[in-house]
Amino acid sequence: MTHLWQFHGGVKPDGHKSLSNQTPIVQADIPPFLVLPLLQHIGEPAEPIVHIGDKVLKGQIIAHCHAYDCSVLLTVPIHASSSGTVVAIEPRPVPHPSGLTALCIVIETDGQDTWTKCKPLADYSALPSRIVREYIARAGIVGLGGAGFPAHIKLKPEDIDTLIINGAECEPYITCDDRLMRERPDDIIAGALIIKHVLGGAKHCVIVVEDNKPAAYQSLLEAAQGQVEVVKVPTMYPTGGERQLIQVLTGKELGRTYLPASIGIVLHNVETTRAVYRAVQLGQPLVSRTMTVTGGGVEKPQNLEVLLGTPMQFLINQCGRKPGIEKLIMGGAMMGFALPNDELPIVKTTNCLIVSGADEIATPPLPMPCIRCGACAEVCPINLLPQQLYWHAKAKDFQKAQDYHLFDCIDCGCCAYVCPSHIPLVSYYRYAKAQIRANERERKTADIARQRHEFRAFRVERDKAEKRARLKQIKLASEQSREAAIKAAVERANAKKVQSE
Ligand code: SF4
Ligand code: SF4
Repeated sequence: MTHLWQFHGGVKPDGHKSLSNQTPIVQADIPPFLVLPLLQHIGEPAEPIVHIGDKVLKGQIIAHCHAYDCSVLLTVPIHASSSGTVVAIEPRPVPHPSGLTALCIVIETDGQDTWTKCKPLADYSALPSRIVREYIARAGIVGLGGAGFPAHIKLKPEDIDTLIINGAECEPYITCDDRLMRERPDDIIAGALIIKHVLGGAKHCVIVVEDNKPAAYQSLLEAAQGQVEVVKVPTMYPTGGERQLIQVLTGKELGRTYLPASIGIVLHNVETTRAVYRAVQLGQPLVSRTMTVTGGGVEKPQNLEVLLGTPMQFLINQCGRKPGIEKLIMGGAMMGFALPNDELPIVKTTNCLIVSGADEIATPPLPMPCIRCGACAEVCPINLLPQQLYWHAKAKDFQKAQDYHLFDCIDCGCCAYVCPSHIPLVSYYRYAKAQIRANERERKTADIARQRHEFRAFRVERDKAEKRARLKQIKLASEQSREAAIKAAVERANAKKVQSE
């Protein structure tokens, strides 16, 4: 893959990467409590299989799923990320743009960090891909680039020609993939080879790194030893987006409703790839992840290997909390979302925590009216019309917003970044999407209620009809028996009369 293409639009925001990418990844401490939400991925939540008071070991499944056959279900299990005792199973606030609570299992850690017996797949290459895929599903692995899509769903060998390992970490502030590629290139290459095997031996396997990460590129190149191609792409936001990366590498513009697999391509993030390696070769399910803690609100912005469920407050303290934290953002500066407080847990999709200091964030200028300059459309990587989307979302004309392909918007924020009127465009899109989804849920609930009501009315009517039929039968039988009795009495009387004559 020597020739590269360009996608439409994109921007080059200030990366702020040097804040956190100068020092090696460190191991975060074990917190006194771990809070593990049962839904940390896209799909169905897992169901708890432990009870309050149970002792658990690190790596033990504590919430179950039915995806072990890896064929259909969009869900993964949740594992205890350290040893300890289950002290609560209850709704807790979780890091999500909705700000809602969700069911969580709370573990009081014992500080021993004792692993349960986890058996690796020693020689995976001799096993059928189905077995390895099921093993990966059981390890609870999801897309760790921030998407949270269960990894096993993207590991079906359906005529996959090209496997892309995504190291294009284009979001400002996030540097965990960069450090991982520099420090653990062997794990990533090993993970890529496992995924290649599971996919039935994809013809091409390529790891993509942006050209502003020369150390990561060099490190991967040396580890790959020709087994996997390592490709450098120009630094541009949002190159790391699935569709944009495919376009840069292949020139193919994936249709709005098509999945990469439909053109023989599968993408996995570098951290996900490493998680696959750790599960298959070391027997370690997904209990921790590498993530960036950065921003002017901490003394030591850095990358850490963090146990899932670690409270953010605990992690920020480890990084040296400064007084006067103004804002907390989960994810990058472009696609991340603000958190209400730091009492939330780190989950599988937490790749970055931006802790903004008092002097770091300028008060955003007040939004002005749209001047129809068209700058937003010029940078939209999906070729949408952000201005139209904005009008319709603002007017709550959600059908029109959908007609303008609202759900193709990847919330990349390029449009808002260039808008001279400082309109928070993405907030409008997110609001519209949330409303449409809520309306859809309401409609489904109403449909179910209507169907239940109709079925009940049908059942009541059916019971009544059956009762009527039974009564009719009883009446008929009693009439028949009465007639028979009269007939018998008449016959007896006649017989008596004949005898007496
Ligand atoms: S960039 Fe802003 S002001 Fe210009 S058309 Fe888009 S929404 Fe309107
Ligand atoms: S946020 Fe949506 S509309 Fe705006 S540039 Fe990105 S994809 Fe286009």
